[in-house]
Amino acid sequence: MTDFGFDTLQIHAGARPDPATGARQVPIYQTTAYVFRDADHAAALFNLQEVGYIYSRLTNPTVAALGERLAALEGGVGAICTSSGHAAQIMALYPLMGPGKNIVSSTRLYGGTITQFTQVFKRFGWSTNFVDTDDLAAVEAAIDENTRAIFCETIANPGGYVTDIPALAAIADKHGIPLVVDNTTATPYLAKPIEMGATLVVHSTTKYLTGNGTVTGGAIIDSGKFNWSNGKFPSLSDPEPAYHGLKFHETFGALAYTFFGIAIGLRDLGMTMNPQAAHYTLMGVETLSLRMQKHVANAQKVAAWLEKHPAVEAVTYPGLDSSPYKARAERLLPKGAGALFTVALKGGYEACVKLVDSLELFSHVANLGDARSLVIHSASTTHRQLTPEQQKAAGAAPNLVRLSIGIENADDIIADLDQALAKASA
Ligand SMILES: *Cc1c(COP(=O)(O)O)cnc(C)c1O
Repeated sequence: MTDFGFDTLQIHAGARPDPATGARQVPIYQTTAYVFRDADHAAALFNLQEVGYIYSRLTNPTVAALGERLAALEGGVGAICTSSGHAAQIMALYPLMGPGKNIVSSTRLYGGTITQFTQVFKRFGWSTNFVDTDDLAAVEAAIDENTRAIFCETIANPGGYVTDIPALAAIADKHGIPLVVDNTTATPYLAKPIEMGATLVVHSTTKYLTGNGTVTGGAIIDSGKFNWSNGKFPSLSDPEPAYHGLKFHETFGALAYTFFGIAIGLRDLGMTMNPQAAHYTLMGVETLSLRMQKHVANAQKVAAWLEKHPAVEAVTYPGLDSSPYKARAERLLPKGAGALFTVALKGGYEACVKLVDSLELFSHVANLGDARSLVIHSASTTHRQLTPEQQKAAGAAPNLVRLSIGIENADDIIADLDQALAKASA
């Protein structure tokens, strides 16, 4: 299956005719539990000696099909599907962390991720050293003996910034820690972080992967390439007390992290994706490449038009010659620089609010990666909990509006922006 091209995998990976009925589409297995053949079968499943279904907090056939498909698209060995993108982040770090441990993270992140990494982490005894990931010396300096991962986003929300994943992967390798990349805004169609050296990829499947704004979900894709027995990751290398002393790395090799994520992560934290959500996301993923091509083409056209508009001060799209990240985007994202960017208006905060209120085709929502074009004023919404300094570092200053360009006709998107900009600058 892995020899197939992307367009084939996005339809077929993880999906085989249903063994019971021959159903061609992946059925929605709307069940909580699975009947054991006998007591020995049940014991073998609970011992992880045989792979099978026990209870849908751990695994479910519809959710498993999505996991297998996402692993194939990202080039990983396995995946863990979760209830949301935020759940995926916690679940991704859970096997690696413990009280007193930290991660080194880019400052350029989804607003809710910054809040999770600063506020939620404290309650677990975890912490985050935030750094500008363009300053590689600062990244290295931020790593100490308690650092257990480097975290970044491929195209950082709210857009415009492309992370140098290969450079961060080299630093992570040197220090024996995994690089965790949130690939939500690029999707595996535009970027393959594992090929660039990432150990784990996380997704909010809520966004482009589902692509129609119907369900929240998340996923962690495991490259299967990391040496978990280097002394820093006892949950994976040492006898695990939460699983009668099982040594995950020794027992499962390249699949150690995936097995731990399901057998302990999902079992004990319960941040599980439900089969209905997996179904909607499977439907979305079938057309991912087609949608991303259109998203990128529209974004390029709209960004170029906006940049020439007299009310606009700047546009941060990495596909524009004016972007400091153009060369990096061409190197790492040859199929396009995504469809998410910010627009700075000369009229500042007031003009931004007026623009958002005047747009008609665009929907004013706290979401991105929908088939529909979306707009939000990050500073007053998604990045509202942040300090002014954090807002600026995250690319969410008060004079910026974030656009998520949809797959409508580009001319209609531009016409809507044109009428709204006229009102915003009046
Ligand atoms: C939306 C988003 C998240 C959070 O995902 P949810 O599914 O909303 O929990 C994390 N990272 C990025 C880049 C996102 O866009």
